[in-house]
Amino acid sequence: MKFLLLLIAVFVLLWLLRGLLQRARRPPPAPKPPGAEAPQPMLSCAHCGLHLPRDEALPGRGGVFCDAAHRAAFERAHPDS
Ligand SMILES: [Zn+2]
Repeated sequence: MKFLLLLIAVFVLLWLLRGLLQRARRPPPAPKPPGAEAPQPMLSCAHCGLHLPRDEALPGRGGVFCDAAHRAAFERAHPDS
């Protein structure tokens, strides 16, 4: 009886150790690149008012624009600014 209890205890211990080892072997989640989750400020096109992330905005005279055509159109409409 004592032997059986010891056998069960060893079996449970091995089972727990196996679970711990599997958890340790699992690779940690890949670190996210910095800034990937950070919200980007939204800017609006000075010509049409479309909102777009700062990275996609084209800077120009008089503000930022959603594309080169709107920048050209705005600069044509406002030649002095
Ligand atoms: Zn636009």
